[in-house]
Amino acid sequence: MSRPYNFSAGPAMLPEPVLRQAQEEMLDWNGSGMCVAEMSHRGKEFMSIAEQAERDLRELLALPEGYRVLFLQGGASSQFAMVPMNLSGRTGKADYLNTGSWSKKAIAEAHRFCAVHVAASTQPERFVRAPTQAELALSEEAAYLHYTPNETIEGVEFPYIPETSAPLVADMSSTLLSRPIDVARYGMIYAGAQKNIGPAGLTIVVVREDLLGEPLSGTPTMFDYRVHADSGSMYNTPPTYAWYLAGLVFQWLKDLGGLEGMGEINRRKAEKLYAAIDGSSFYANPVEPASRSWMNVPFTLANPELDADFLAGAKDAGLLTLKGHRSVGGMRASIYNAMPEAGVDALIAFMAEFERTKG
Ligand code: PMP
Repeated sequence: MSRPYNFSAGPAMLPEPVLRQAQEEMLDWNGSGMCVAEMSHRGKEFMSIAEQAERDLRELLALPEGYRVLFLQGGASSQFAMVPMNLSGRTGKADYLNTGSWSKKAIAEAHRFCAVHVAASTQPERFVRAPTQAELALSEEAAYLHYTPNETIEGVEFPYIPETSAPLVADMSSTLLSRPIDVARYGMIYAGAQKNIGPAGLTIVVVREDLLGEPLSGTPTMFDYRVHADSGSMYNTPPTYAWYLAGLVFQWLKDLGGLEGMGEINRRKAEKLYAAIDGSSFYANPVEPASRSWMNVPFTLANPELDADFLAGAKDAGLLTLKGHRSVGGMRASIYNAMPEAGVDALIAFMAEFERTKG
């Protein structure tokens, strides 16, 4: 029996082959007699899993020399604090781009630790587009520029990488691994795992070694990147099972042809869903076409009184979790890596049928 398609924005679908492999290995990983969740994080079995996962992630990202990969906890939300605590000390100032709900949260947190300069904000336009490079009013002394390449709630994505002389820091929670990225353009990248990477509880940080300087005084040990970098992310007990599942996802991605192959599939999925929305007067997406997210597709129905009917009918058709974020309403289809193209086709077919019968 096939499973339903789950359009949750995260925790999100995991690839079925990954879940099956985890199921097979649940009671006995590789002849060890242990479930991975039962292993000492310092034992040779888990160390081999951890090292393989990091190697595979480095290969997928084509990571240049000089970057450290950290497997942390605390979600992207902890990074909202860890970034200024670790990276703002050089000048005490940082530039931020305000492009949606998640960058707003990052900005609010950064205010606790450094002088924040908002170099661009699309809030007056209700976050329907990414600002252009020409609109970025970058400051001279910023220790870094922080931005959110994909805003998960508004479905807004930057179609370019901002140019800046300061190190570029990106919250890639809902975009990392969805296509190739030019890591060399970034000083630091972070992502909560629960969208494209694995289960919640794991946070990936990729940081350029020369940025691992002095954190602000008073920074707790667990919030100090150097501590985690120096201990191979094993200063304390890491999220071992999530790390293992992420490793299985990395292998699944490599088998699919890496991020090039994944990016092609994701582009196709997004294009056909937006085409279906734009081709109908019953559904609408407010985002300017050039800034539309490949990962999170919000849409509204012409008659919001039909929202509950739409969601109930979708659920019956095996299409789950399409309700939009409570702050914006309407619908949202998150179509991360693990969402098969057939799931997007099924959603498009359901939308057409709903419009035909109810529209
Ligand atoms: N940033 C972005 C872009 C996100 O989508 C999310 C989660 N939806 C977060 C940050 C917060 O992540 P976490 O819940 O892992 O703290």
